[in-house]
Amino acid sequence: MADAPITLRELSEIDVGRLRGVGERKRAALASVGIDTVLDLVTTYPRRWVDRTNEARVADLVTGLEALVLVEVRSVHKRMGRNRRAIVEAVVGDGTGRLHAVFFNQPWRERQFTPGLQVALFGKVDSYRGGLQMTNPVVDLIGDRTGRIVPIYPQSEKAQLSTWELAGWVENALERSRPRGLADPVPASVRQRLGLVDRGAALTTIHLPESIAAKERARRRLAFDELLRVQLALVMRKRALERESIGLRHAIDGELVRRFHAAMPFALTSAQLRTIAEIDEDLAAPHPMHRLLQGDVGSGKTVVAVTAMLAAVQGGHQGALMAPTEVLAEQHYGSVTALLGGLEVPTNGTSLFADRPLRVALLTNRVTGTERKRVLADLAGGEVDILIGTHALIQEGVEFHRLGVVVVDEQHRFGVEQRAALRDKAGGTVPDVLVMTATPIPRTAAMTVYGDLDVSVLDELPPGRTPIVTRWAEGPLLEAESWAAVRSEVAAGRQAYIVCPLISPSESRSDTASEKLEVASAEETYRRLAGDELAGLRLGLLHGRLPAKDKEATMGEFRAGLLDVLVATTVIEVGVDVANATVMVILDADRFGIAQLHQLRGRVGRGVHESQCWLVTGQRTDDVPNPRLEALVASTDGFELAEIDLDLRGEGTLMSSAQKGRSDLRLASLRRDRELVRLARDAAFDIVDADPVLAANPALLDELHLLLTAEDTEFLTRS
Ligand code: ADP
Ligand code: MG
Repeated sequence: MADAPITLRELSEIDVGRLRGVGERKRAALASVGIDTVLDLVTTYPRRWVDRTNEARVADLVTGLEALVLVEVRSVHKRMGRNRRAIVEAVVGDGTGRLHAVFFNQPWRERQFTPGLQVALFGKVDSYRGGLQMTNPVVDLIGDRTGRIVPIYPQSEKAQLSTWELAGWVENALERSRPRGLADPVPASVRQRLGLVDRGAALTTIHLPESIAAKERARRRLAFDELLRVQLALVMRKRALERESIGLRHAIDGELVRRFHAAMPFALTSAQLRTIAEIDEDLAAPHPMHRLLQGDVGSGKTVVAVTAMLAAVQGGHQGALMAPTEVLAEQHYGSVTALLGGLEVPTNGTSLFADRPLRVALLTNRVTGTERKRVLADLAGGEVDILIGTHALIQEGVEFHRLGVVVVDEQHRFGVEQRAALRDKAGGTVPDVLVMTATPIPRTAAMTVYGDLDVSVLDELPPGRTPIVTRWAEGPLLEAESWAAVRSEVAAGRQAYIVCPLISPSESRSDTASEKLEVASAEETYRRLAGDELAGLRLGLLHGRLPAKDKEATMGEFRAGLLDVLVATTVIEVGVDVANATVMVILDADRFGIAQLHQLRGRVGRGVHESQCWLVTGQRTDDVPNPRLEALVASTDGFELAEIDLDLRGEGTLMSSAQKGRSDLRLASLRRDRELVRLARDAAFDIVDADPVLAANPALLDELHLLLTAEDTEFLTRS
């Protein structure tokens, strides 16, 4: 057995203290940064690789530009500056020239920069007293390493671990495992198909690359392994759920759906057709659907959702549509009844009765008394075909006759508990669930964040929309232009939204002109606009602290065209639908994120008229770009914006608490490795579908247990 290739499990059982040069003190230092085993050590990857042949020489440095140089310390000295702050000045050189490195307030640099030491410095080059200088450059100590490419490890000043120490231990560990080689539990067919290099070679190469290209191939292989493990866990869970629950087989090719589509005043987009086909496949299958429908505002999710519910109805079941708020439920009720107006449910000629009208009902807390009793009774009796309401639909006291398909609007407010309630509701069989969201997230992120759901994407808007024109109104002059735009739209019979970030005057209020950063408040803005910029127009005010009654009244007036302008907080973010509103002004736009701005902007551009969105900010005092606002001006495509958001913010915000267990991603990045995520997911399906509990791949299964959290692997043991 001793000659079998070494597994990650075995590496995880060897204490780092057994490596050459790791004594008591270093052992403790490594433990303080979470490195206890040889596995921890060899998966502590370099954070950079410095290619010696590619770095600038001191002689080539250009003042004003940033550069990386590899140099040797010639001399160092420390003095005290004003305010008794230490200034350390080092002279460094590389044989082509000399450079001053100056450090403020970092007294320990004096001890660090011992003459003869090799360092990599990264920073902006200035000229100072006729020489070249870097001020507070980033310093990497590289020791006396000789390779062409030098790995730079995350080093810890506090733990007193240097990059060359880590490099030495890693090298030692790799050397000692070389005779046996590293086990590679990823099926050979997958490795070959994807052209992945051998795992053992990859692990050596990532630490000691001979070229940057070789390092990239190694990284790809190791990142793939990380992603594959996550996807295997997700796909196994998905398949296990499918096996465990009994669902309904809906008749997808029925007369009711056919009639619905034939009666529609427009043709379905190809994205709608594709999505409906994907949903149909789930509906016809014996296991319950568990699908996420992503689609930008206005992409036509309602038609898709209604089609799914009608598939249930034509087989004698009921559909339910749940919205996050009462206002949205009512709005859905309005649009669904309009869409389904006059539709007759066929009785297949088997009945003596003629076709009967389809029955859609609304159930919210505002439906009370006898009306409520009637809806509940008809629902239990099966006379209501489609019920629309809030999440209260799946709470106690609501009895369905035969619930078949549930559509949930706005994923992020639908939690695990609701899902469980749903299961109870349908007694035995689990209804098919379609979750809709208008907040696009990048596909690769969706595969990881919602990895146990199927995902459909409506990535096409119905034809004939005029895209919203977005402008960044920076400073008072452009802001004035935005008010002029509001006035001229209102004069043309259109309506406007003004969005403010907060509802009460903020603590940062100040009268000084310089503090133009002042937070706009809805109340204040309302008063100001009414008295000044928008004087004479009919203004309404809407914010979250108003009593529900007032909110509804104001919304109603705006919808009816009795108000020209609605000054509001982000309460209008979700789902408010007034086709006659053609201009939106968002104040303090730089305080919002990309997704939220895009969501807000989606409130306009819903009718036939051309729409505009103004992103108002203060005047920039520096030339710092604002990539978020620039992205919104450049694109109205929610998916493109989601990708940009991912690039700008990284994955941290996506991989929130719900994905705690996905911490195995050390090299892989949802941002950089989009293609690899997809390949890993496909490979995971191939592997799991051929071998559902990984009985034939025990080494792979063992790695999941080893490297994922208990939470992620809990279900692996109950097959
Ligand atoms: P979403 O819920 O995705 O924001 P909706 O379902 O509310 O979008 O649809 C937005 C508008 O587009 C509605 O007025 C709807 O009637 C219309 N619509 C939907 N599908 C099409 C289509 N294929 N062609 C033309 N208009 C469509
Ligand atoms: Mg909608």
